[in-house]
Amino acid sequence: MLKKLLRLPLINSLTKKSPTLHHTIVPREKHNISRRNISRSAIKVMQRLEEGGFEAYLVGGGVRDLLLGGHPKDFDVATNATPEQVRNLFRSSRIIGRRFKIVHVRFGREIIEVTTFRGHHTEDTSGNHSARSDDGMLLRDNVYGDIRSDAVRRDFTVNALYYTLDHFSIHDFTGGMQDIARRKIRIIGDPETRYKEDPVRLLRAVRFAGKLDFTLDKATAEPIARLAPLLGNIASARIFDEVLKLFMGGYGASLLPLMEQYGLLAQVFPDLAATLADGNELGRKLVEQALHNTDHRIRTDQRVTPAYIFASLLWPPLCAEEARLRASGMQGNLAHQQAAQTVIQRQLQITAIPKRFTQSMREIWELQYRLQSRSGQRAQRNFEHPRFRAAYDFVLMREAAGEDLQGLGDWWTRYQNTDEAGREALVADLGKKEGSGKRRRRPRRRKPQQTH
Ligand code: ATP
Ligand code: MG
Repeated sequence: MLKKLLRLPLINSLTKKSPTLHHTIVPREKHNISRRNISRSAIKVMQRLEEGGFEAYLVGGGVRDLLLGGHPKDFDVATNATPEQVRNLFRSSRIIGRRFKIVHVRFGREIIEVTTFRGHHTEDTSGNHSARSDDGMLLRDNVYGDIRSDAVRRDFTVNALYYTLDHFSIHDFTGGMQDIARRKIRIIGDPETRYKEDPVRLLRAVRFAGKLDFTLDKATAEPIARLAPLLGNIASARIFDEVLKLFMGGYGASLLPLMEQYGLLAQVFPDLAATLADGNELGRKLVEQALHNTDHRIRTDQRVTPAYIFASLLWPPLCAEEARLRASGMQGNLAHQQAAQTVIQRQLQITAIPKRFTQSMREIWELQYRLQSRSGQRAQRNFEHPRFRAAYDFVLMREAAGEDLQGLGDWWTRYQNTDEAGREALVADLGKKEGSGKRRRRPRRRKPQQTH
C-alpha cells in the first residue's frame, strides 16, 4: 500500500540553497498510525497550539516508531510558534537549550518536547541566531522557518515525517515513507555537509540502523568512517549522553559490530577498540555478553546503570593495562589501582562520565579481587558491600564469557541462597579446600616481619 503512494523520485541532493522538495500527503486511510497510540499529552499540546492559531505536528522518532508498529518512548511536537509563544500557552513549560532552543511541556511525569520550525541559514552569520565553526559545525541554530525548511534541517528521512491532527495525515518532504518501506537510513541532503554540521549524526546513523534493523543507504554510509575523527570536536558531555542512547536503548549488542565497522568505536572507546582489534577474544566475548545482558534487562524492565556498562566496556583495556604494569614489575594491587586510574582518565577525555559512576566502576572492578577472599568475616563483609550485587553479576558475566574463575560465581550463588549456618559451612569448607597449602606458606611469610 505504501509503495503505491510513493511513486515520487528519490531525492538525492537537497542542498540548503535549492531544496527541491516533493511534498507528499499520506491520508489517514493510507497509513497505520492510530490516534489511540499517541500520548494524550502530545495530542493536548497539539490541540492547544492549534487553538492558539499555530500549526502543530507530531514529528521525529514518535511518528517513525508508530509507523513501524513500535511503542515510542517519547513524542516531539514541531510548530511555527516561537519558543516564547509556546511558553506562554502552557503553564508548566520551560525553555531549555542554547544551541537549539526547545520547550519542555510537562504533564505529570511526561514531558512533551516542542520545537519551533528551523529555518535556512543565510551566509551572513553575524547575527546571534546561528553560527558555524571553521570546519562546518553548527554552533547555534535558532533561525526559524516553516515546515519545509524544518524538514530538511532534520537528520534522516525516516525522522522527518509530520503527523497532523488535521485529517490525521502525514506530510513527507524527503521521501521518508519510501525509506520506511524499504527499511533504509538515509541522511537528508549532502551527507558530508550534514555530518560536518553535526558529527553526532555519525553515531545517530549507526544507532538507528542497529535499533530499527535498517540498512544504511550507500551515500549515507560512505563518509562515516572517514569523518569519524570529527567526533573529537564534540563536547564530552554530549558524547556521554549519546553513548547512553547507544548502549542503554535495548539493542546495544547489535551496535557493537556496526560501530567497529564504521570506525566509530575507535573514536568513542579507543582503548577498547584497540584491544579488540588486537585479537583479544576473551575481551570481545565479555563485552558482547555485557551488551546482551543489558539489552535483556532493558527489555524486561530491569534496572541498568551506566556504571556497569562502562565497567564492562573498559574491562578489557583495564586487564591489558594491568598486565602491562605487572609485567614491568609492579605489585598486583598497585598495578590494579593504577590501571583503573589510567583507563578512567583516558576515557574521561572523550565521555564525561559523572563522578558517581566512575566511583561505582572502581568498586565493581576492585570487588572482582575482593570477592575471591572469602575466609573469616571477609565473605560477609563483601556481601554487605553496596556494590556487591553488581560485582557478583560481573563475576557471572566473566564466567559466561569463558573465563575460568574456579567456581567463584557458583560459590557466591550458593552463599546468597542459604542461611547463616549454611554460609558458615561454605566458608569453613573453603578453608578445608585451600587447606594445607596455605598453612604451609604462612609461617614463611611471617618470618621477615618478626625480624623487624
Ligand atoms: P529516539 O528518541 O528513539 O532516540 P528520535 O528520532 O526521536 O529517536 P531525538 O534525539 O529524540 O531522536 O530527536 C527528535 C528528532 O529531532 C529526530 O527524529 C530528528 O528529526 C531531530 N534531530 C535530533 N537530533 C538531530 C540532529 N543531531 N540533527 C538533525 N536533526 C536532529
Ligand atoms: Mg525522541
